[in-house]
Amino acid sequence: MSGNDDAETAKIEVWWDMKDCPIPEGYDARPVRPSIERAFNKLGYSTCPVSITAYGDQNQTPCHVLRGLSSTGVAVAHTKSESTRSVMYRDMVEWRGQNPPPGTMMIISDQVGGDLSWDLARLQQRTRYQLFLAYSIKPCNDLFLLYRANWRWEQLLEEEGAAPLVVGGLSSAAMFYCKSCNFDCQSLEKFRKHLSSYKHGMEVSKHPIYIYISQILLFHNLIINSFVKLRRL
Ligand SMILES: [Zn+2]
Repeated sequence: MSGNDDAETAKIEVWWDMKDCPIPEGYDARPVRPSIERAFNKLGYSTCPVSITAYGDQNQTPCHVLRGLSSTGVAVAHTKSESTRSVMYRDMVEWRGQNPPPGTMMIISDQVGGDLSWDLARLQQRTRYQLFLAYSIKPCNDLFLLYRANWRWEQLLEEEGAAPLVVGGLSSAAMFYCKSCNFDCQSLEKFRKHLSSYKHGMEVSKHPIYIYISQILLFHNLIINSFVKLRRL
């Protein structure tokens, strides 16, 4: 069994912090997905479906970028800037709950440290999740983590041949999510309207979604422990 067998079957899930790793000025949003896919292809992950979610304060993201991402199958999630990391992590934990290993996780962020790196390090010791990273500024506090590969974000986007493409088999645009309100839709116009709505403003001020990662971890461990207990019964 080759060390890369999982690469042939594993799903690839990508969590992208758009504030840490923005789309460079003047760069078309549409090649983001093919750039990421190309990088994985080079490592032998040629048949794996890649699912990408871009997190950030989408009030700050120009419409043509949002449209370019959605039209190439990149889901867009609105978060308050200060809670992006914890929302990404919450979604990561949820994904792991629904996708047992083997699996491939890619984080595009400069902030893979602290509680998050401890959790990922423990995960790597116990399971067959593979970890990939892209960053603008190399995280210096993630020494415990083993990456299958890591890239500088801008270099990844500049990869040779990463021209705009026609995405094969993509039947419809990816979703837009508002993580403050649990709102989702497929129309950019609806999404924009939602972000500027009174209801959204009220929801954001009423329920700040900043959650400490340690709280998510505690919750996650409680679920895992009860699951293990149930299996023993
Ligand atoms: Zn909202």
